[in-house]
Amino acid sequence: MAESRFAFIFAPELRERLQWFIKLRWLAVAGLVAASLVGPRIGMQSVWPSLFLVALFVAAYNLIFFNVFRIAEEHGQPYGNLRSCAIRQMVMDLLSLVVTVHFSGGLQSPLLPVFAFHMAIGTIMIATRIMYVLAAATSVGLLGLYMAEGKGLLAVHPVDPTRGMCGRACDLNLVALTVALFGIVYLTDSVTSRFKKRNIELYRTTGKLQERTTELQCLLDEIAELEQRKSHYMRISAHQLRSPLGTVQTTLSVLAKGYVDPASERGRRLLAGAIERVDGLLAIVNDLLELAKIREGRGRAPWSRAINVNQLLADIMDALEPLAAERNIELVPDFDGVAILDWGIPPDLVHAFENLVQNAIKYSYRGGAVTVRLRVNDTAVTVQVLDRGIGIPAAFRDQVLLEFVRAPNAKRHAPEGTGLGLAIVREVFEAHGGGVAVSSEEGAGSTFAVELPLHYTPPEARRLLQQGNEDGYRPHTAPAGTASE
Ligand code: ADP
Repeated sequence: MAESRFAFIFAPELRERLQWFIKLRWLAVAGLVAASLVGPRIGMQSVWPSLFLVALFVAAYNLIFFNVFRIAEEHGQPYGNLRSCAIRQMVMDLLSLVVTVHFSGGLQSPLLPVFAFHMAIGTIMIATRIMYVLAAATSVGLLGLYMAEGKGLLAVHPVDPTRGMCGRACDLNLVALTVALFGIVYLTDSVTSRFKKRNIELYRTTGKLQERTTELQCLLDEIAELEQRKSHYMRISAHQLRSPLGTVQTTLSVLAKGYVDPASERGRRLLAGAIERVDGLLAIVNDLLELAKIREGRGRAPWSRAINVNQLLADIMDALEPLAAERNIELVPDFDGVAILDWGIPPDLVHAFENLVQNAIKYSYRGGAVTVRLRVNDTAVTVQVLDRGIGIPAAFRDQVLLEFVRAPNAKRHAPEGTGLGLAIVREVFEAHGGGVAVSSEEGAGSTFAVELPLHYTPPEARRLLQQGNEDGYRPHTAPAGTASE
């Protein structure tokens, strides 16, 4: 886990450094070519053409690395690739360096400090244990070279042939270089490991910060959307209130200015119209208040437990029987099973189901029938309110659950109405963890299907119950039939 995170953190840096190394190697190639040309002029005959050949070798493998790296990048370089690429490059560089050292004076070579540079950079880029292995291999390689030169197996190429062999100084050089190689790996590791740890912490903190920023952004988006919905809602509410108010105002000013005698036939008709408008306004205001109450009161009191939906629907049907009878509409109960909700707000449930049955009666033709069907399974109850009334035009089917939407056929069939009833219905069922769906065909009837989970308790109520805090539990004073503990 730590390894993979570590790997992930350094992948971008490693990638950058490898690219930088490939560039730097071209400089080394140029340096080697220059040294191979200049060397013979200052007495180092051995560097031509040997260093030139080393330069060609370095250029060749650098070109291969460059292409492999480019192709791997195009296919999304995994970290494992980067790491083995870094190790391979380091091995090739050290090998070339040993050869270069051989042709530029052996253990007298001015290029010996370049090993130190490789060890330091290698320890930053590659795992420290691998660098210890490479330091050991380099030391052994230099020792082998030194011994082969000493035994005459390899030609010696002194920096300054006039000064002869280096003898004891070279022995010491080799010891010092070996110590330096290991020392540099150790020191670089102890310095950089702290940075690496900090880098990991920084990476983690940045990750958390990014998560929080995303969460915050989501919340801000939600707030912005809510604000937008709120102002849209306020605008249409104001709009719905303005036109009846305007009519009432006109009527009153006509009467007040004496253009029409209030006692006259026309005056009485105007007043009756104004009263009707005020009734409509009151209905809208009441529905708006109801909607606001439901929206604000989600999960709050007065709620009850163990609500018997069958009983609740039977009570509603009893209460609406006179209205149905007045329109010669038959109310048909079709209950199969008994549905008990773990949690619910009985007055709201009564209001919502009542609204659906009332609508079914209101938008049915005389002599029709309204069926209230109840089905239960282990987890949910489905209540369907079916009628064979005017139906909903296809264009309005998805919209009737929104505020102030009334289909034209409904306005013709029943001019009075606020268009807020179904919005309240939707809010109520959603607050109970369920929902309502509409299916309808214009002229053929409608079905409003409500689904409620049996075992739903909103988090706020659940928390209060778990704490044994019964403050949130206020036995309702809803109509009889809604069983509560
Ligand atoms: P209102 O009944 O006051 O107009 P509602 O929000 O209850 O407001 O209903 C919104 C609209 O949905 C109605 O105006 C009508 O177009 C349509 N509607 C609701 N119930 C029915 C139904 N049972 N049959 C046909 N249309 C319906």
